[in-house]
Amino acid sequence: MSIKAKVLFLDRDGTINEDLIGGYVTELDQFRLIPKSDEAIALARKAGFKIVIVSNQACLAKGMASEEKINAVNAYMQSLLIKNGASYDLCYFAPYHPKYPHPKYDAYKSWRKPETGMVAQALQDFQKMGLEVDKNDSYFIGDKQVDVLCGKRSGLRQILVRTGHGEVDACREKDTHPEFIADDLYDAVANYILPKYSGGNA
Ligand SMILES: [Mg+2]
Repeated sequence: MSIKAKVLFLDRDGTINEDLIGGYVTELDQFRLIPKSDEAIALARKAGFKIVIVSNQACLAKGMASEEKINAVNAYMQSLLIKNGASYDLCYFAPYHPKYPHPKYDAYKSWRKPETGMVAQALQDFQKMGLEVDKNDSYFIGDKQVDVLCGKRSGLRQILVRTGHGEVDACREKDTHPEFIADDLYDAVANYILPKYSGGNA
């Protein structure tokens, strides 16, 4: 018997923290929360959502960062979130990039969004904890077309945020229409997701 869980699958750069457009967040001092993204995660947790981070980090395949650096940034993110009553439950990053073959990371091809390997791994990991993800009540939130497409392919609901790359045009051009477009993560959680559960304003 497994317990049903509702989950927010969150992109990291451009959704939770400021994206370094054209670069990678590999140092702690480059990691800056987008205003109220921590508050949004705290609200979602209070409403019973599990939080999963799913991030493409091709800087690994490109040799621009070590796994230790990426793990340190993710741990730093967790420490900032915890200060404000938020936290994530699981965190995945896809190290693969098609143009940068790598003996260790090529095995993670299916993890690179818009492929769905990270979501699939999270579903398995939740199952080991006795939790079954209720996809009708679970959302993929990100700033890029690949996030929306990954959400769709995974059978999750999808919200595009206008922060980061805010790929509204790319979604339209590639015929990848999210269920909602929100200003930022806080708007997505407070105004599009939580009203469904509270029956009113969050
Ligand atoms: Mg992003």
